[in-house]
Amino acid sequence: MENENNKKILLKGLSLDELRSLMIENKQPKYRGDQLFNWIYNRLVTNFDEMINFPKTLREELKDKCVINALNLVDIQYSKTTGTRKYLYSTADERKIESVIIPDDERATLCISTQVGCPLDCKLCATGLMGYKRNLTVGEIIDQYYLSSGNYDGGVITNIVYMGMGEPLLNYANTLKSLSIFTDELAKRVSRTRITISTAGIPQKIKELADSQVRVKLALSLHSCFEDVRSRIMPVNIKYPLKENIDALKYYTKKTKTRATFEYTMLKDVNDRQEDIDGLVTLCKKMPSKINIIPFNSIAHMSPDGISASLVPTSYDKILAFADALRQKNITVMVRETQGNDIAAACGQLAITKHNN
Ligand code: SF4
Repeated sequence: MENENNKKILLKGLSLDELRSLMIENKQPKYRGDQLFNWIYNRLVTNFDEMINFPKTLREELKDKCVINALNLVDIQYSKTTGTRKYLYSTADERKIESVIIPDDERATLCISTQVGCPLDCKLCATGLMGYKRNLTVGEIIDQYYLSSGNYDGGVITNIVYMGMGEPLLNYANTLKSLSIFTDELAKRVSRTRITISTAGIPQKIKELADSQVRVKLALSLHSCFEDVRSRIMPVNIKYPLKENIDALKYYTKKTKTRATFEYTMLKDVNDRQEDIDGLVTLCKKMPSKINIIPFNSIAHMSPDGISASLVPTSYDKILAFADALRQKNITVMVRETQGNDIAAACGQLAITKHNN
């Protein structure tokens, strides 16, 4: 096997077609690529010696020229109050990223990252406060799933949400390719109907995703129906206003025949007023949709200042009343429980600090 850069070829992140081509280039039959796909992505093998249907010569050749994993598992933290686990991974260039598994009855959802840090600076999010370092590669995105699956003692990971560190649609090409690997017809582990991309709202990319062959669910981090409020807590709204995102979401739901999810983190006196209920009712009538209400989780571990420091959670009683008011208007609403607050693994809390670097 040739490797022009004299570096080993990273297998995780290669599609089925690329694995087939790799085998054909190396005078192996095409079906060896299918077998390699199966070993890596379905059987979660991380050692070439376990690929027992390969001749020994091929295993040795692969060992010499290729590596399987894109990430190293550094640490797992377990919540004392829920079953949530937080995984800390390091990349080949010594960057750190986090993923979280949230078990819930029959389901276990893995929240994965797409960037090291995030450039969007949402005021309610710890990742935004840590700044942006770089995009993750395809291998680094998908390996969070494969390594977390291999190191999860609670059963099978049934759902994936792209809702960890970073904005997936700002790393569009790698996000799309990672989805195509997860949803390849040979991939047997997770159904595309159980994969959700969560975005702060990049309208052009939402439309591109709708036009792609990948059919997954889409969630918009909404947090307010009002442009001025949203711009204050999510500066990306200045460049990509909510109105443009709503148009893009309408296009997405129509094209993919899916229902949009609006993520709504509740902030005292910012977005928990009667006019916010009215705004949500009007918005939800524009497309098939549901609302996920998320209690605001503390970002005190990032020592926030400015607007971030002023944000206060809505009380739980008020959250329940807010959700009830929406349900009375026939809006589908879920109120998420906070999971993993004690290990800074809850929604909006992921960040690399001097404590976990
Ligand atoms: S909420 Fe998402 S998009 Fe906004 S700063 Fe955090 S990681 Fe980035």
